[in-house]
Amino acid sequence: MGEMRLHGRGGQGTVMAAQMMAAAFVLGGKYASVFPSFGIERRGSAVMAFARFGDKPIREKTRVYNPDILLFIDESLTDVESCYDGFQPGGIIVANTKNGKNIEKLNVNQSIIATVDAESIALQETGTPITNTCMLGAFAKATGLITLENLKKALEDFFKGKILAGNIRSLERGYNEVKILKFNPECNEKVQKKNILDEKDPVIDPPKFVSEFEADWTDVSKKQIIAKTGEWRYRHPEVDILSCKLCGWCDMFCPLNCMKLGDDGYYHANLKYCKGCGICANECPAHAIKMKPEEVI
Ligand code: SF4
Ligand code: SF4
Repeated sequence: MGEMRLHGRGGQGTVMAAQMMAAAFVLGGKYASVFPSFGIERRGSAVMAFARFGDKPIREKTRVYNPDILLFIDESLTDVESCYDGFQPGGIIVANTKNGKNIEKLNVNQSIIATVDAESIALQETGTPITNTCMLGAFAKATGLITLENLKKALEDFFKGKILAGNIRSLERGYNEVKILKFNPECNEKVQKKNILDEKDPVIDPPKFVSEFEADWTDVSKKQIIAKTGEWRYRHPEVDILSCKLCGWCDMFCPLNCMKLGDDGYYHANLKYCKGCGICANECPAHAIKMKPEEVI
């Protein structure tokens, strides 16, 4: 699984960029998950979107704290130090910038910096300074993670008519005009800028990302859940068998199907999978289930 953070400003289509990108990943047979984080909800304020993508279902739901890739939709944000928080050494930066000066000042150990003057392209092709589709083209070329064709198909779900045509042109120009600098990620960050390996070639092989959170939900061949959702739990249900009426509601409502009849003839949670949501306790008509903190196990 790869993790990515998009930085833009309200009105620039940052969130929509993340959604179109996710659609292109899915069209390419991958899994993707995206969600936004707004600061002040008005045009012009800083906006972030988080994206995860990979070959397996994505279970992680938090913000992205250690991005492998940073995508700057807005040039002014390339100057903001906090936008680089947690950036992984050897990661990729794709930025909207006129002259790349902000990027030159970077002191992060990246493997690729890809820049494109997205604002000028967007103004010429769409008549607006909304740079999101142009930046998606640059992202596709710089990372090799999604294809231009899948991005075009994804755009068709978001735009129609002349607006679609303009955004497709903007996307294509982002793809064709992005300048890609490849660095040796092994070298010291202070001397890295003198170690540019290649200024021309696009990335042919998409980078591989690793995450501890990626796992199969199910083993289809065995028809059983194998993700140990019990590891998420901080509390667990305990059934008072003297109060239990054996109605089976807890079994019916448990989202993980882990409340089952035990050898004693009463319902108990399979703690390997019970995630401690408490739904069974809420639904039990006899109030026979109490949620207990995990330490008491
Ligand atoms: S706490 Fe949630 S996951 Fe655990 S048994 Fe009850 S309903 Fe199922
Ligand atoms: S919902 Fe409550 S009463 Fe019904 S079977 Fe489960 S524990 Fe017993």
